[in-house]
Amino acid sequence: MKKALYPGSFDPITYGHLDIITRACSVFDELVIAIMKNPHKRNAFSEEERVRMLKVVTKELPNVSVVVGNGLTVDFAKSIGAQVLIRGIRAVMDYEYELQQATANMILNDTIETVFFVSRPKYSFLSSSVAKEIALNNGDLTEFIPSQIVKEVERELNPSKKATPVK
Ligand code: ADP
Repeated sequence: MKKALYPGSFDPITYGHLDIITRACSVFDELVIAIMKNPHKRNAFSEEERVRMLKVVTKELPNVSVVVGNGLTVDFAKSIGAQVLIRGIRAVMDYEYELQQATANMILNDTIETVFFVSRPKYSFLSSSVAKEIALNNGDLTEFIPSQIVKEVERELNPSKKATPVK
């Protein structure tokens, strides 16, 4: 049985991530999405919020689960019995970073393979940062973020859409 781990920040999940998830879970028996703790990164959404959004968006995919991971990605993969790491590549700028990470991971543990999924052209420009920028400036998120979480992302990031407290 092949178990894969898709590690990342997912701050928040975009259609680009969801496309990788959907494709990866049809290739592997089990796919674990892990929000990896990274004390150096300032995220807009808490781990709990990101886990909840990922679960909502993947609830129709039976072989997908969502967890919070910590430590080195290869150690975390080993601890959950995953043999494969999934990453996505949008453009050359991703490639350089991803190659560095994958090579370091290979040196740390050569029993764990990194498998890259090339972004679908329509998502190759899409990142969580782009989506956050659009939300912050009152733009339409429907092409960027799965529909089930658009409202939550807008409420969190756009001051004009913050829920007015009930009196
Ligand atoms: P990280 O902070 O680990 O880069 P991200 O949540 O930004 O986490 O991304 C997780 C993975 O998903 C990375 O491999 C990234 O390249 C990939 N990814 C992000 N957006 C897209 C997209 N639009 N298409 C394909 N892959 C993507």
